[in-house]
Amino acid sequence: MRVDVVSIFPDYLAALDLSLVGKARQAGLLDLRVHDLRDWTADRHRTVDDTPFGGGAGMVMRPDVWGRALDDVLPAGGGGHLVVPTPSGDVFTQRHAEALAAEEHVVIACGRYEGIDARVAERTRAAGHRVSELSIGDYVLNGGEVAALVMIEAFGRLLPGVVGNPHSLVEESHGAAGLLEYPVYTKPPEWAGLEVPEVLLSGHHARIERWRRDRALERTAARRPDMVAALDPASLDKADRAVLAGLGWEVRDGRLRPAAEPEPGSAPGRVAE
Ligand code: SAM
Repeated sequence: MRVDVVSIFPDYLAALDLSLVGKARQAGLLDLRVHDLRDWTADRHRTVDDTPFGGGAGMVMRPDVWGRALDDVLPAGGGGHLVVPTPSGDVFTQRHAEALAAEEHVVIACGRYEGIDARVAERTRAAGHRVSELSIGDYVLNGGEVAALVMIEAFGRLLPGVVGNPHSLVEESHGAAGLLEYPVYTKPPEWAGLEVPEVLLSGHHARIERWRRDRALERTAARRPDMVAALDPASLDKADRAVLAGLGWEVRDGRLRPAAEPEPGSAPGRVAE
């Protein structure tokens, strides 16, 4: 996979030499190229920004500079994929990471100041490229570099061969099961007066699997009820439904919903359909 990142702070991306992504680059699994946007400026001061039309605070990144840069790094004739990190974009999720990991070539345009002139995305789309404007969360950073690091790490680890044991990707939070991961433990079995749950030392695979599934359901219900509500009831077995019922969830009209408050003196709510 090839990834081009364009930024006015290329050194910010030096972290991509480290860890698994760094190794993936060395192994040739990821062809990652970082560019300095100022290389496409045309003036002595290497200017990339100007004042906003319509007035207001801050500066806006110039479309002409970005246009020249993108013409050079996106494939000629269209068909490329430009990712523009922005707090006003769709929220980046594991589904985006999976989709990006399946791409052959992605270009990431890191904005600064008040962002990039809106005509850049418009012209890039008109030239036959896909443009994804993506936010890494509901907060505002100073620039797109951190967001680019987040996205590259998230999709980079999904590339075949990057994570040593591909099984470690299967049960993770936000995976196909739609749950958060269960709590994990390692040696020593007793530490600071705290013991590892007995079942994990039992060697009984079916019991361990059930225990982990129950903890994943509990954790997801406690921390991310929106993820429980999005679960497909068909993916839940009897034991899953019993755990969720105990946590106040029931299947109604084909969807998981918080159990209705029981009327005083009435029978308890349904737990399964
Ligand atoms: N004026 C913009 C707004 O209110 O939407 C914020 C611009 S922000 C100060 C500068 C740059 O940081 C953005 O162009 C974008 O590249 C990056 N950025 C900031 N927050 C981000 C987020 N949550 N996700 C992705 N990129 C972000």
